[in-house]
Amino acid sequence: MREFLIAGNWKMNGSSAANVELVAGIVAGVPTGSGFSLLVCPPFPYLASVVEQTKGSPVKVGAQTVSEHDKGAFTGEVAPGMLSDVGCDYVIVGHSERRALYGETSEQVAAKFQAAQVAGITPILCVGETLEEREAGTTESVIDEQLGAVMDAAGVGAFAAAVIAYEPVWAIGTGMTATPEQAQDVHRHIRAQLAAQDGSIAANVQILYGGSMKGENAAGLLAQPDIDGGLIGGASLKADDFLAIAQAAAGIQ
Ligand code: PEP
Repeated sequence: MREFLIAGNWKMNGSSAANVELVAGIVAGVPTGSGFSLLVCPPFPYLASVVEQTKGSPVKVGAQTVSEHDKGAFTGEVAPGMLSDVGCDYVIVGHSERRALYGETSEQVAAKFQAAQVAGITPILCVGETLEEREAGTTESVIDEQLGAVMDAAGVGAFAAAVIAYEPVWAIGTGMTATPEQAQDVHRHIRAQLAAQDGSIAANVQILYGGSMKGENAAGLLAQPDIDGGLIGGASLKADDFLAIAQAAAGIQ
């Protein structure tokens, strides 16, 4: 039985003071019940303090990206071992902003995915198509290329300790959410791609939806059979908005 994972990607937002308030609000409002976990992904400088503040709570902490290298002359980069050293459980890899703004290739994303796992961190692999790609009817082939690069490099077995996030680029930060049916179609496709190689891995892997998810649309998306949670940007920056999505997950269990 797959649990829901409700993950907040804070992107480049926050401050020491604002984070203390946000985390306190989230920790205080975690819905009762089981069948879901909560995760927050602050910017690098705040990881250690958010880990400290969430200790003893059910809220886990992750990073937003990571280097594929384990140490050395890579100015400005952060190694996977450093993330585990400060208490991170997860790291997002291949977010569309990293692919589009920083030129990360699918091969590089695969290397980051593998490096995270070596350090004991669970990678959240983001995949998703642009609007042009959707309109051209190439959504599935785009997903296959992004997912396939990681399956080729790491093997399907690696998805026993990983999470996938389907994030249509056209829905990220735009207020344009995929309909539950549009999202479910792609989630089903992703699971089928994995199932072609290993049915048990496919049945157990969590596949999150990301793209303007909020309290008002979360229940419909999370009710879909292949949607196992959300990767949430904008609505993760206010405790009440984030908790409304967590409540939707708790209500479905
Ligand atoms: C994201 O950044 O991964 C995301 C889904 O953002 P938003 O929820 O703001 O669309």
